[in-house]
Amino acid sequence: MTVARKPLVAGNWKMHGLASSAPEFVQMVGAYPAIKDKVDLMVFPPATLLTSFATATRGAGVIVGAQDCHPEASGAFTGDISAEMVRDAGGGAVIVGHSERRSDHRETDQLIRAKAKAALRASLVGVVCVGETEDERKGGQALAVVGRQLAGSLPDESSPETIVVAYEPVWAIGTGLTPTVDEVAEMHRFIRDELARRFGDAGRAFRVLYGGSVKPGNAVELLAVEDVDGALVGGASLKADSFLAIARAA
Ligand code: PGA
Repeated sequence: MTVARKPLVAGNWKMHGLASSAPEFVQMVGAYPAIKDKVDLMVFPPATLLTSFATATRGAGVIVGAQDCHPEASGAFTGDISAEMVRDAGGGAVIVGHSERRSDHRETDQLIRAKAKAALRASLVGVVCVGETEDERKGGQALAVVGRQLAGSLPDESSPETIVVAYEPVWAIGTGLTPTVDEVAEMHRFIRDELARRFGDAGRAFRVLYGGSVKPGNAVELLAVEDVDGALVGGASLKADSFLAIARAA
């Protein structure tokens, strides 16, 4: 069965961006109407910029979101923000389980699943990240690791409208290295099959993004791979020109 999935290009700004970055975002929003029919755009600025970016995109259709959320709606959790707060700030999505959170903050699949559930509770799209390390790939474990992360991190209530999967091999993030087209195709086919096994026909409609050193120069090739429904872009999402070039490639 073939299912049409609208491509999605998402920019993860990580811990970059000050109020002075607003013109870059405004340029992205300004260029969006011309490509809106072909591709969805999401931008994940640092939480400090969420409200101002949400205001800047109002009505334009670029979805802004947060890079993480706490599983609880509120409480004594110093330094955290909840999915409800993201929604309240004008956000429409949240990234959960990014490999930098998995490694730097020791986040487990169980915690990531709870965060994804929080996203659903707050009516945010949850972008759930999975991906193997270099050692795991070299050891022939890439599919097994990603399969385990998918099984553990995706809530049972996931649907194609509410959850996006992002495959980001850890060794490709910020390194300029990318898997071969064949490796990307193999992994995305595997993820698609896992989603179909768990969610039935709906599994064919989830969007599965590739992330890790996506640049204007490799976007056409990576985004043309079967079962790649868009990209999660780090470094190249900080500049409107490169981000838009990737979006146009989708
Ligand atoms: P990168 O980051 O595009 O800079 O490799 C991707 C990501 O971490 O989402």
